[in-house]
Amino acid sequence: MSTFSTFAGYQLVSSGDLKRVLEDTKALLDSNSSTEPILIFDHSTGRQVDFDFRGSVEDVLARVGAKDAVEGQTSNKAGKGRPRLGVVPAEVTLLPRHWEWLSAQPAKASGTLRRLVEEARAREGSDPRLRIQALGNLLWSLGGNLPGFEEATRALYAQDRNKFFALSDSWPGDLPAFVRAWLDPEGPRSVPVGAIGAGSASPAPEDQALLEDLYKDTPRQGPGGEAQTEQALQLVRAAGAALGPGSRILDLGCGTGAQTLVLASNTGSEVVAVDLLQGFLDRLGDRVREAGFGGRVKTLRASMDALPFEEGGFDLIWAEGSAYNVGFREGLTAWRRLLKRGGFLGVTELCWFGAGPRPVEVETYWKSEYPAIDTVGAKLRVAEDCGYVPAGFFTLPRTCWIENYYGPLEQGLEPFLARQGHSAEALRVVEGVRSELDLYGRFGAFYGYAFFILQKRE
Ligand code: SAH
Repeated sequence: MSTFSTFAGYQLVSSGDLKRVLEDTKALLDSNSSTEPILIFDHSTGRQVDFDFRGSVEDVLARVGAKDAVEGQTSNKAGKGRPRLGVVPAEVTLLPRHWEWLSAQPAKASGTLRRLVEEARAREGSDPRLRIQALGNLLWSLGGNLPGFEEATRALYAQDRNKFFALSDSWPGDLPAFVRAWLDPEGPRSVPVGAIGAGSASPAPEDQALLEDLYKDTPRQGPGGEAQTEQALQLVRAAGAALGPGSRILDLGCGTGAQTLVLASNTGSEVVAVDLLQGFLDRLGDRVREAGFGGRVKTLRASMDALPFEEGGFDLIWAEGSAYNVGFREGLTAWRRLLKRGGFLGVTELCWFGAGPRPVEVETYWKSEYPAIDTVGAKLRVAEDCGYVPAGFFTLPRTCWIENYYGPLEQGLEPFLARQGHSAEALRVVEGVRSELDLYGRFGAFYGYAFFILQKRE
């Protein structure tokens, strides 16, 4: 399925499947809150696409014929490089053997042709040369006036990534992170611990809905505990952080907010809680209101590798059970600039406990699911490499995994399957959770989460 992205100026508003992107874009348009031009791009071509936003999102989709439309550039009514989506009749000439083959297919000829085109497009999506061309197209529409634009696009087409990134890193808004993510579609591998189980850095949209359903009633979406969040906060304080009124905390991958509430109730700080899944943020919003934190806790739907914040705005950044989504090293590197001078980062990461040796089964499992897994000592070194001074660390006890996380999750599995009609995808998710749980039961002495408290070095 194609991916789309919407930009308001240089800020990324939404990225994902067409429905999601249309919903988000429509919400922004309806709120009339953006003064920036709003542009939507089709990732497969990098070209801008226009939609008729009248009516509901369903109306918009219906007009597009989203399910089976041949999209974009095939439209002969497209004006000025702004193709409209829609089904367009046109003559096709084929040899008799092609027609014979087509008529032997179960779908009608147009349907079969559309399927073949979509399959070819999906293959092209993984062709690096075509991805570069598509990014080039997108940047021409979006960033033609940016500093160093021509030099950057030359570096892009020459596949000189370092030079391209060196130039594009100075671009405004979400562009630097967006182009990096584009050229590195696999991104860092993710750990099937926490809400985003097996899969890529950002879950596929159809998985997002499943995950929202699976996790929204669990107290947390990854191993951890209130006592441990407090313990980590004490280390931050002991190292000299002032977290009174006027200070700001950024909680990344907050989920439904287990640690957000602890952060808010143990400090006077303003807390900005960020997650990719709106369902989780809505639940957190309810919990914040119930707890009476009113305006002090804000939620924001964004990806933690494309954060819309100014440099140096936060006293403390928090990432419990979530850094793996972008990678420990990658996250530490990217978030450093958002911290004030001498600011702190509290982050948990999956680690080997002890130097080994370990049973082959557990070693093989994690090396394949999360190749970056390493010892606590090695992760401290990574933190030092990334420009932090470790101010403390501890490992999370078993209760954080079993009582706090897997227990409630396991209880919800059957009801979840029932709600999902035992679909193949839901069964796959449940299977993933069960095998992870089984592994922890047998080998939990060999690995777990470590909580790191790190101070930004000058
Ligand atoms: N901190 C919470 C949730 C951990 S699970 C807890 O400990 O309970 C990981 C969370 O990261 C999920 O809520 C998931 O939706 C979120 N997530 C995954 N990829 C993300 C991304 N790229 N940007 C922001 N959040 C992301």
